[in-house]
Amino acid sequence: MISFRELVNGFREVGLVPGRPVIVHASLSSFGEEVRGGVGSLLGALLAVTNRVMAPAFTYQTMLIPETGPENNALVYGSGGDLNRMAEFYRPDLPADRMMGVLAEALRRHPLARRSAHPILSFAAIGLESALNAQTLEEPLAPLRVLAEMGGDVLLIGVDHRVNTSIHYAERIAGRRQFIRWALTPKGVVECPGFPGCSEGFDQIQPFLAEFTRQTQLGMARIQAVALAPLVKTVVDLLRESPDALLCDSPHCERCNETRIGLARSREVSETEG
Ligand SMILES: [Zn+2]
Repeated sequence: MISFRELVNGFREVGLVPGRPVIVHASLSSFGEEVRGGVGSLLGALLAVTNRVMAPAFTYQTMLIPETGPENNALVYGSGGDLNRMAEFYRPDLPADRMMGVLAEALRRHPLARRSAHPILSFAAIGLESALNAQTLEEPLAPLRVLAEMGGDVLLIGVDHRVNTSIHYAERIAGRRQFIRWALTPKGVVECPGFPGCSEGFDQIQPFLAEFTRQTQLGMARIQAVALAPLVKTVVDLLRESPDALLCDSPHCERCNETRIGLARSREVSETEG
């Protein structure tokens, strides 16, 4: 059984302090044993150590696949079928997708939390109004820029970098290919540009971040806090050096394949020009 006190001590051990914001990604089951008080206790412990917490509260359940759209978008148009039929209308109180984990949903429901208004890629946060307000339809990951400027951390609780949304923000800065997706809203179908690629290959960043990572162990869960600004710089530098870094190995991955094709295309263009 993991206690509230152990959680608080763990978060202090990785260097969380009041005032310095964190974006948190967590798996409650990763502890391998019961957390006394469940997700409420986990969130309470986090808020006992820092007063500025954000989590992705993404709502993939609003997504639709249209019949037609722009080329090279890693999407088979017209293949929506059941997904389109089951799509939910975006609303500000729509629960976060289950993939976001129970901590993100608990944060979203917290009485002090606010949520940004993106119909797919919203963030929930306490004490981070300026970060939430930075988000636009065109710049869905702008809240992470604000967190980086504030000297924030990425906190990974029993999860690895495959869920680290901040790496997507760094990809965008580095000029990596972005996609367009569509959300069902009460005002109609909304086109959402700046949609990130696949994150299945992201844990390859781990060794490059060692010097900015503080970590501890709680039960079976590894707790890592990674300083956000150097994380972004490290990813940007890596992608400028090796443009196909951090892509996944699945031959069926539409977004990674499209990214590789785009890179090959731009190499051809620069060779022709050169
Ligand atoms: Zn992939």
